[in-house]
Amino acid sequence: VRRCAAGVDVGGTKILGTVVDRAGEVRSHIRVPTPAAGEAVLDAVAGVVLQLWEAEPGAAGGAVGVGMPGLVDRAGVLRYAPNLPGVIDLDVAGGLARRLRSVGATAHVVVDNDATCATAAEHALGAAGGAGDAVMVTFGTGIGGGLVASGAIVHGSGNFAGEIGHMVVDAGGPVCACGGRGCWEVHASGRALGRQAREAAAAGRAPGVLERAGSVEAVQGEHVVEAALAGDAGAVAILERFGEWVAVGLANIANMLDPEVVVLGGGIVRAGPALLDPVQRAFMAAVEGARHRPVMRIVPALFGSEAGAVGAGVLALEAGD
Ligand SMILES: [Zn+2]
Repeated sequence: VRRCAAGVDVGGTKILGTVVDRAGEVRSHIRVPTPAAGEAVLDAVAGVVLQLWEAEPGAAGGAVGVGMPGLVDRAGVLRYAPNLPGVIDLDVAGGLARRLRSVGATAHVVVDNDATCATAAEHALGAAGGAGDAVMVTFGTGIGGGLVASGAIVHGSGNFAGEIGHMVVDAGGPVCACGGRGCWEVHASGRALGRQAREAAAAGRAPGVLERAGSVEAVQGEHVVEAALAGDAGAVAILERFGEWVAVGLANIANMLDPEVVVLGGGIVRAGPALLDPVQRAFMAAVEGARHRPVMRIVPALFGSEAGAVGAGVLALEAGD
């Protein structure tokens, strides 16, 4: 049984690496840009792993976990990655193991979806704290998700479970990056918040947000968060409406899975009560029999941008048991 593992999270723009041990301690942090082509991505990941091993000799030659932004099958092949254009059917597990073998290492490589990795981090060490039934929702360019049922991560038949961002909440609504219409992430992702804020700013309803961004085109979700934290009424109103879209999806999740806790991650969660309060109110109005069921806790994630890397390490440790 190994004591620690390397965890690497590959994002659309950057690759993050860290080492996590069984006590939940996270050590070493390495960050490099994500190259454009698939094989170059694997070269970069191998380079990050070797740097981590050098910094933390206790992890050297041991388990390696990798989180990838897309559909990863049970063999560790990245089948589809909407945010890594041109990367398709990439054998991440095989390609990385081959690269590490070429320098004399026989590491066991585990690869999974990045949001599934983040879920493992929050469930093992973070805000979901070992809950039997839990859901993780991460708000970014899209909405990522991970499900825990009866204490275990739900992988699904093809390892593609938890794609909750593409749950349809607005049949016939706006087109999604996946080609469908009215998916949850069209209305409730970080990117969607930015679009809603630009509309509000253009209509003169969010002067405080507009002032922070400089122009309507420059408005992003983070400007809404900053303005709301400063008590700006226009930003608070944007988050109220946005929170209703978040709650629609959470109610669907609660009706289907009945989790005891839902962990929300991503930069917009920094807004705190300005986001969580309207979400909680709208959720109670939307879920079946709200007053006749235990309160589902809706809490912010403990791990920030490192959740995917930490969780990849956690999955690698668990796989090595
Ligand atoms: Zn979609």
